[in-house]
Amino acid sequence: MRIGIMTDMEGLAGVDHWEQCYAEDDDAATYRHGLEQLAADTNAAVAGCFDAGATEVIVWDGHGRNLQQAFTRVDLDPRAQLARVVAEKSVRIEGVDADLAGVLMIGQHAMAGTTRAFLDHTQKPKDVCRFTINGEEHGEMSQFALYAGAAGVPLLYAAGDECLCAEAARLFPWVHTTATKRGTGWSTCSLYPVHEVRAAIRRDVADAIRQRADAQTWRLTMPLNLAVEFAWSALADERDGAPGVSRPHARVLAWTIDDPRLIYDWPRARKQ
Ligand SMILES: [Zn+2]
Repeated sequence: MRIGIMTDMEGLAGVDHWEQCYAEDDDAATYRHGLEQLAADTNAAVAGCFDAGATEVIVWDGHGRNLQQAFTRVDLDPRAQLARVVAEKSVRIEGVDADLAGVLMIGQHAMAGTTRAFLDHTQKPKDVCRFTINGEEHGEMSQFALYAGAAGVPLLYAAGDECLCAEAARLFPWVHTTATKRGTGWSTCSLYPVHEVRAAIRRDVADAIRQRADAQTWRLTMPLNLAVEFAWSALADERDGAPGVSRPHARVLAWTIDDPRLIYDWPRARKQ
């Protein structure tokens, strides 16, 4: 049985500051701390996978700042294999195919626009106000559920702050969750005891996998109407004019996809 784990950093246990996810200096103590939390939460999830009978676990480092290098700097459980998110003409997540029994998310954050969620965002923290699928607000958890769903693979589990867990309960009620902390403002939160959280991650991941027969694969009828509202209209200007992209508002771009795997392929900024 093969399980995939998508990681991010904002929702990790032990992460309570922007700099721990985004410090520009690779060797900043704050960023190193963040990477150590990433390894600890991910390894707890990997352990839970094997507890539940997984024979293969693949991990994607999904936090953009890391350039997929996080696990060259901190130790991933050697039983897990790294795979890549490839962003060429369109974004492809290697290894997402029908051989996976399910996918999990570690360190995930709530969608842009969630009140008192720690570092809530969708793709770009300070640039994007909201992202919608068929007019309904969604975030990165939905994008991954849809992408995996295209291969017939269900999202089974997600760990993040209380708001992320509430988002899962509202949109994907079959998804098991572990709360890592409680957001108190956009960049503030109160952490839960990290050792207790990691024990819970291991236990809850194993439960989610054992109960995977109850999970649903998220599929929507194509085509999908997507829209992104940027923080200011200059960001829409930079991406306006691409084929098939409309501009219903100064800050909003809208487009349509007929393949759920194109969910990450937003209009790109023109080269200056
Ligand atoms: Zn991130």
